[in-house]
Amino acid sequence: MNKENKEPIFEFDFTLITDFFRALERQGPGGDEQTLRALEFIPNIHPGLRVADIGCGTGHQTEVLARHLDASITAVDLLPGMIEELGARLQRAGLGDRVTTLVRSMDDLPFRDGEFDLIWAEGSIYNIGFERGLTEWRRFLKPGGAIAVTECSWLSPLRSPATAYIRENFPDIDTPSAKVRILEKAGYVPLAHFVLPQHCWTENYFALVAARIPVFLEEQGHSPAAVRMAALMREEVEHYRVHGTDYGYVFYIGQKPEE
Ligand code: SAH
Repeated sequence: MNKENKEPIFEFDFTLITDFFRALERQGPGGDEQTLRALEFIPNIHPGLRVADIGCGTGHQTEVLARHLDASITAVDLLPGMIEELGARLQRAGLGDRVTTLVRSMDDLPFRDGEFDLIWAEGSIYNIGFERGLTEWRRFLKPGGAIAVTECSWLSPLRSPATAYIRENFPDIDTPSAKVRILEKAGYVPLAHFVLPQHCWTENYFALVAARIPVFLEEQGHSPAAVRMAALMREEVEHYRVHGTDYGYVFYIGQKPEE
């Protein structure tokens, strides 16, 4: 990621980021219904499905997948604290035997060619870049396997007031039709795409972020870095409140063709 366009959040160290986010039920916009809707588009679901959940965070969607699939899931995240929370979650849910966890960067995955039937990435592929992630992860899929990711996309042509902030935070943002073209160019048949409704941001995510901020500040003794991070989180919530009809997350689902 180039320096001028870097995610503001990366100005903070991983410990602070982990402390803030590991306490949240999810680390980005999403919803169980939307996870399950995306799953409905996946062809060839069968017992023993092999799934990779990349950028899993504390694994809210990992748990949904594990509950609904007879699958063996490998859940990967860069931050050990996220994987620790996922481990606790799986133990509480009694799903530990279905999920293997891995601390690893998504640009350096140790998987074999054709290892997976399904690759899942909610709110995380932007860390490697939509095009690069789709392209590099494709070889891990079996022929006929599928990929489902969410990615921030323009939802309105009236987006000028939102542009500067969003371009800084999501430099890859584009229209859904442009994203589908990228999916095709990366070697997938587009099976579906759909927009996540606003409550996936407001109720399912930002409400948790807003509640977390004062607790986090207290925990961090109002350190300057924590105060700055809280300010950026508030800015993100406020920006969506004002401009949230201009952009949103879209689920993109594609299939690697059979050979
Ligand atoms: N899928 C979860 C988390 C989304 S937040 C959800 O929807 O709730 C994005 C996640 O990607 C974070 O947990 C972050 O730690 C992880 N991440 C960021 N950069 C990464 C990288 N290079 N490799 C793997 N995971 C990464």
